[in-house]
Order: sequence, then structure tokens, then C-alpha cells
Amino acid sequence: MILTTLSSSSKGNMHVLSNGVTSILLDCGIKFNRVFEYLYPAKLDGVILTHEHGDHIGGCQSLAQNRIIPFYGTKETLDKVNIPGFDKYAIEPLKTFSIVSYNIVAFEVHHDAAHPVNYLIKDNLSGAQLLYITDTGNLDDIEIHDVDYILIECNFDEEWYQKEELSRSEKIKKKRLLGDKGHLSIQKTIEFLKRTINHNTKKIILCHISHSFDGYKEFEKKVQQELNFEKVVALNPQFIGPVVNELEEEKEVMPFE
Ligand SMILES: [Zn+2]
Ligand SMILES: [Zn+2]
Repeated sequence: MILTTLSSSSKGNMHVLSNGVTSILLDCGIKFNRVFEYLYPAKLDGVILTHEHGDHIGGCQSLAQNRIIPFYGTKETLDKVNIPGFDKYAIEPLKTFSIVSYNIVAFEVHHDAAHPVNYLIKDNLSGAQLLYITDTGNLDDIEIHDVDYILIECNFDEEWYQKEELSRSEKIKKKRLLGDKGHLSIQKTIEFLKRTINHNTKKIILCHISHSFDGYKEFEKKVQQELNFEKVVALNPQFIGPVVNELEEEKEVMPFE
């Protein structure tokens, strides 16, 4: 599989996951005219949406106007996208669905949206699995193991909000971010990864880093050190354009299920 990130931050989230047969978008937060040159030759088989916030669905309308493409998400998310005539499939948490050669299962997360979910995606050609986690205040109830690749939010550092003098806007931001329906801090991301990764884990990609933070490489280093695991890559939140992560496969080829 190849994971191509077109944008990853609170300004817009959009990744293309391709295994050579099937290509899907993970969220669609950037308008088509800003990314079409990277999408253009590729056939897209579907879009999976986590929730209805603009940085995840902001590109749906322009994409639907330019491509015939099915959108997948919970009913509540799709209702909020509400593009006339667009091709939509409501999915239910914990019920596996397929998009050509991927088997996908959604699971509920904690975020201030109508019915947010994250996804576990299995590539039936290689057997490899990618876990996509973003926009959740905590992962306390999520236990998933034996995943090959983890694309996970690492939004902010709790230490940023521990200083005594916070401005009014910082206080409002702190309340949301540190609440149970906010975003994952690097501390929570590390805590989850520590209990999740094992000998099957091949790569961790840190996404949705706060766009106001240009020290994303610091997050990469901190996670590497805390996990004692080298293959950690942080996505630059300031960048729009293709960042390619090759997800090499080492497992036996599995038949379609
Ligand atoms: Zn977001
Ligand atoms: Zn959100």
C-alpha cells in the first residue's frame, strides 16, 4: 500500500490510500481545485469520512462535482455533508464493509461531532492493516492489536497549556482540547501507542498536528524516544501537496474475503 497525504492539519485532512487496485480517500478536507493535480490520474473508489468538521469534509462538494465517487460515513456525518445527488453509503460501527479490495471497519470515538468514527482498513491483497485514528479526546476504550501501520493524530502538547498566564482564547482552546471530546495530545497518543504496538507494527505516522506548531519534528523525536521505536514519521502541518509513505508489505498474500 501507499499512503499519500495531501494535507494533514486543522486546516484540512486528506490522504489517499492505494494498493495498486483500489484507491480511497481518508477524509476530504481540501477543495478539489487545490489537489486535483495529485488526484487526477488515479481512479478513486471511495471516500471514508470520520466526521463532519470542515477540515475533514470541506472538499466533498467540489470532489463530488468533479468525480463520480461514493462517500462512506455514519448516517449522521453524511446528513451533515448533504450534497444534492451525491453517492453516499451510511456505515455502522463495528460492521465490516468493503470498497473493492479493502475490508473496512469503523469504530466510535469521542469528539464534538454528530457521530464520529475512526477506521481499521485491511488490504485484502497483502493482508496488511492500517489503523486511522484522528479527532478524538481519548482512546481509553479502544483496544486494537496486530496492526501493521498506524496513522494517528498527535495534535498538541499538554505542556503548552500548563503555564500560569493563558490568554482568553488560549483558555477556550484549552477547555476544548483537553476535554473528553477534543483532540489527542502527544501524551495521550504515546499512552495509546505504548499499549498497542507490538512486533507486527511497521510504521507510525503522526497526523493532524496543530497547524500553529512548526516543531512537528520534535513530536516525531519524542514519540520515537518514548516508544523506543524508530519508524515514526510526523506529517508537516504547514504543507499541502503529496507526502508519500510507502507501506511495505511483508505478509503472505491473502485471498479476497
Ligand atoms: Zn480535524
Ligand atoms: Zn474534528
